[in-house]
Amino acid sequence: MITSAEQKMQFLYALRSKGVTDKRVLTAMEKIDRADFIKGIFANRAYEDMPLPIACGQTISQPSVVALMTQALQVQPRDKILEVGTGSGYQAAILSQLGRRIYTIDRHRRLAQTAQKLFERLDLGNITVISGDGSFGLPDQAPFDRIIVTAAAEDPPGPLLAQLRIGGIMVVPVGQSDTVQGLIKVTRTETGYEYDELRPVRFVPLLEGIAPE
Ligand code: SAH
Repeated sequence: MITSAEQKMQFLYALRSKGVTDKRVLTAMEKIDRADFIKGIFANRAYEDMPLPIACGQTISQPSVVALMTQALQVQPRDKILEVGTGSGYQAAILSQLGRRIYTIDRHRRLAQTAQKLFERLDLGNITVISGDGSFGLPDQAPFDRIIVTAAAEDPPGPLLAQLRIGGIMVVPVGQSDTVQGLIKVTRTETGYEYDELRPVRFVPLLEGIAPE
C-alpha cells in the first residue's frame, strides 16, 4: 500500500484528472505500490506521474498511461492476459488484480528474473513471467482474452493478432520509436479486426530477438 495518505490522494487525483474513471482500475492502482517496482535514486519519485528509468536502459511507464491502457483493455475477472514487455513488472501487477491469469514476457532475462522474484515477494501468484521475444506471442497459451504491448511496434504484430480470441481486445502503441506513437485498441470480431486510435503515447521500441546480457 502507498504509505502517506496525502501522497496516495495526490496519486489517485492525478489519475482521475487524466481520465481514469474505472473503479476497479483505480482500486488496483491504489493497492499496488509503484515504489516496489523502482530501485535506487528514483524510488522517492514513485508517486509522480512520469516515466522513470529502470535496469537495462528501459523505463517504467507513467502511472496515468498504465491506468488508461488498463482501462482501455476492459479486463474481465475470468480473462487470460498476455503482456509483451514486462519491464519493472508494474503493469503486470496491476493486471493481476483484474484478470484471472497473466503471462508477461520480456526480451531482457534480467528484467524477467527480477520481476518474477518481486511477484513472489508480493504474493502475486497469478502471474507467469517468461524471458524471450514477445513479438511472436506465446502460442502454447493462446488464445488470449486480452493482449497488452508496452513497447512500440511499427504495426500491430501479426502473431499477436492471431493469438487474440474472438471478442478479445489488444492495446498496442504503434509508430516509429523516436517519435510520438498512437495507442491503438484492436478488437477481434467474428469476421476480422476493428481498430480505434486512442491517444498519443511514447514508448521504447519493440525489438526483435533476445537481448544480449
Ligand atoms: N510494462 C513495463 C514497461 C515496459 S518498458 C512496466 O510496467 O514497467 C518496455 C519493455 O519491453 C522493456 O523492458 C523491453 O525490454 C521490452 N521489450 C521490447 N521488445 C520486446 C520484445 N520483442 N519481446 C519482449 N519484450 C520486449
